Amino acid sequence: MKVTDQIHAIKIPFKVPVSPEVSVDRFAFGYLIFGDRIHLIDSGVAGSESIIFEYIDKQGRSPKEVSTLILTHSHPDHIGAAKSIKNQTGCTVFAHKDEQSWIEDTKQQFNDRPVPGFFTLVEGSVGVDHLVNGGEILELEKEIGCNVIHTPGHSKGSISLLFEGEKSLFTADALAFPGDLPIYEDISSSIASIKTLQQIGNIENLFSSWEPPIQGQEKISKRMEESIAYLKRIHTAVINNSSGVKNENIMELCQKVVGELGLPPFAAMPLVAKAFASSLVAEQKQTIAH
Ligand SMILES: [Zn+2]
Repeated sequence: MKVTDQIHAIKIPFKVPVSPEVSVDRFAFGYLIFGDRIHLIDSGVAGSESIIFEYIDKQGRSPKEVSTLILTHSHPDHIGAAKSIKNQTGCTVFAHKDEQSWIEDTKQQFNDRPVPGFFTLVEGSVGVDHLVNGGEILELEKEIGCNVIHTPGHSKGSISLLFEGEKSLFTADALAFPGDLPIYEDISSSIASIKTLQQIGNIENLFSSWEPPIQGQEKISKRMEESIAYLKRIHTAVINNSSGVKNENIMELCQKVVGELGLPPFAAMPLVAKAFASSLVAEQKQTIAH
């Protein structure tokens, strides 16, 4: 889908087997920036290179023109096809330094964060050629550059990308949309990161991984407000249900909160429980205003 002259969005579907009987349909948006060369933001899950390359062919361009792959973070739906894309195009891979170890050692990532179906979603490790910290400008080609913004919370090295010339902001998984599965490592950082993004003015196009592109400044600022409100609602629900809950009962707390938020029962999973547990830490440290 063409969104601006340069930016195109591709919706990449995949399935996550949450139990032997149930698999959940998910998707993630990947993005292409067409200039003299082609620049990709996130790779999608394993096998997505065929969807991306077919799309490039349909635009009358060649996958061989792909010179950049920016990985917004290390999760399976963002890096799954990175190995093939790099092998087949020779592109330069960019990622934040705090995501490097999980991108370059996917077995380690699975050990640390065992997403169901991990090895069907990720084809393997890939080397990061260029590490970023946040705060720098990446010159992808003569007329195309972006600012890297460190937006931790969803993961510690998550980045957002600002293409000022296109008035476009790529936020990957930094925003949490009402009704979405709450998946983040640190709720305080998540809220702080969204507040950082809110400070950027003059954005006409918002590109996240879990929603189609949003256009118009008013809609974009509303979505950011909703995202903060959703995180605060989750935080309040966790704290209200947490009295007397010890760490070993975190799944029990997770089920209660999932019910209270009206999320589907499968959402009561360890990744979501981990997100909720970050509220207990935040409450102790008083890092979130109610
Ligand atoms: Zn993610």
